[in-house]
Amino acid sequence: MAKLLIRRDEMILLKNSEAGKNFDLYGNLFATLQTYDVLSEDEFYKNQTLDDKARAVILNNKKILFDEIKNEWIGIGCNDEATGEVRCQLCRTKNKLVFYIHNKLNDNELNVGSECIKKFPGIKNVAKIRRTYNEQQKYQAEVKRRIEFDEIDLANINYIKEAEEWFKNFRILLPYKLFNDIKTILYNLNSLKATYIKSGGEITHIKQQYFEFKGILEKCKSEAENIYEVNKGHILICRKELADWLNVNHHDIWEAVMKNGGLLNSETLKYCYYTKFVQSHLKRFNARISDKDISIIGMNGPLIRLTIKNSDYIYPLYFGINCNVFMQNIGCYCLTNKNYYFGKKELVNISVEQTNSNFDAMCNRIMPPLERIGLQIERSRYTNEKYYVRLPQITRTSKWSNRVETTELGYKKIAESAIFTKFSDLVFASDEEIEIAFARILSQLNRTTKWLTKDEKDKMEEISKSLSIQQQREFVPYA
Ligand SMILES: [Zn+2]
Repeated sequence: MAKLLIRRDEMILLKNSEAGKNFDLYGNLFATLQTYDVLSEDEFYKNQTLDDKARAVILNNKKILFDEIKNEWIGIGCNDEATGEVRCQLCRTKNKLVFYIHNKLNDNELNVGSECIKKFPGIKNVAKIRRTYNEQQKYQAEVKRRIEFDEIDLANINYIKEAEEWFKNFRILLPYKLFNDIKTILYNLNSLKATYIKSGGEITHIKQQYFEFKGILEKCKSEAENIYEVNKGHILICRKELADWLNVNHHDIWEAVMKNGGLLNSETLKYCYYTKFVQSHLKRFNARISDKDISIIGMNGPLIRLTIKNSDYIYPLYFGINCNVFMQNIGCYCLTNKNYYFGKKELVNISVEQTNSNFDAMCNRIMPPLERIGLQIERSRYTNEKYYVRLPQITRTSKWSNRVETTELGYKKIAESAIFTKFSDLVFASDEEIEIAFARILSQLNRTTKWLTKDEKDKMEEISKSLSIQQQREFVPYA
C-alpha cells in the first residue's frame, strides 16, 4: 500500500480549520487538497497543481501546520455512556466515548473518538474533560458496586451501621476479649464493604465472607446481651457514661476495668471521680460514716458537701471534699468492702465553704481555745471585713517590779481566703491543737505587724463603707 502523506483524520481536521488557508505560509495547499480524502505519495507526485510552498509543507513542515491547526480548537465536552455510540468524524468508526471540539475561528464542531483524539495531543481542555469523565466513570462504577453489596443482605440493608450503633451505645463496659472481638469483626465488615466498593471483586466470595462475619458478630452480640442481663443490678458494673468518661480521662483504667471482666474494683474505683458517678453513690457513702455528727448532704461541682454538728459546732459547719480525693481514699472501699466505715480521720484535704455562716460557726468553735491566748476573730457587720483581735493583757513592766500595764485592744485585718484555709486545716482539731496553731500566728503577728487601735480600725471601716456606697452610686443608671 502506498505511503500516505496526509491521513484521512488529518485531512478532515485540516479542511475544518482555518490555518491551511494562509497562502503566504502554505501556498495553495488548502485549495488543492479540497478534492482529496487522503493524500498518498503517488498522488502527490502525480498532482500538477500544488505549488512549491505547498509541496515543501507537505513533505517537510507538516508539524508546523498541524500545531497551528491544533491551537484553533478547544474541547467543549464529551458524551456519556447514556448517549450510546457516536461516530468519530475523523475516522468514521463508532465510539463509546467521543470528545466534542470547537473551532474558535470558524465555529466548526467535530466529534472525535477517544483514539483519534490521541493523534492530536494538546488540544486545549481535552485532558481536563477526560479527567472529569474518568472520575465520573469511577464514581458510577462505585455506585454500582455499592448497590450490589447492599443486595447481599437486602432484608438487613443497614446491618453494619446498626451493629456499630449497638456497640457504640452498649449500656455497660464489656470484658476485654469480647469487646475487642466485636471491634475487630466490625472493622472486618466495614473493610469488606469499602474494599469491594472501591476495587471490586468476586461478589459470591464477598457474600460468603459477609455472612461468615455476620455469624460471628451475632454470636458476640448475644453473649454481650447475656452479660448485661446477668450483671445489670451489680453495684460494680461499669455503665456506659462512666466507661466513656474513663476512656477519655484514664484510658489505662478503662482498659483495666475491661480486663477485670468489665467490673470495677477498689483499685480502678480510685480513678472513678466522675461527678455523676460519685453523685449516684452518695447515699451509699453516707451510710458508711462512723462518726454520727457528720453527714453527706450533696454535691457542689467537683466537691462532695458535708456538714458537721455537735457540741463544738453548735451552728453547723459546711465543708467539701474533692471527689478525686474522696474516691482515692474512701469511696473505693465503700463500694467494695461491706465492713468498711469512715470518719473524721479519713476526711483529708477538706475545705470549708467561704460563707459568713461558716465563718461565724468556725469562730464560735475556736473561741474558747483562742481566748486562752488572748485572741479573737471577728467580722464587721457593715463591711464584712475580717479581723484578728488582740485582747487587752496585763503584763508586768519588768521582772523586778510589781508595776503592771495593760496593753490596748488591737486589730489586724485578715485576708478572707487565708483565714478559710486556716479553718479548713482545723475543722476536726482538738482545743490544744487549735491553741498551738493560733499561738504561733499571734507571736508572728506581734513580731511583724503593727496592731491597729479600735479608733483606727473604726476609721478604716468608715472609709471603706463610704467607698462602697460611692461605688454603688456610680453604677446607678440615669432614670
Ligand atoms: Zn476516529
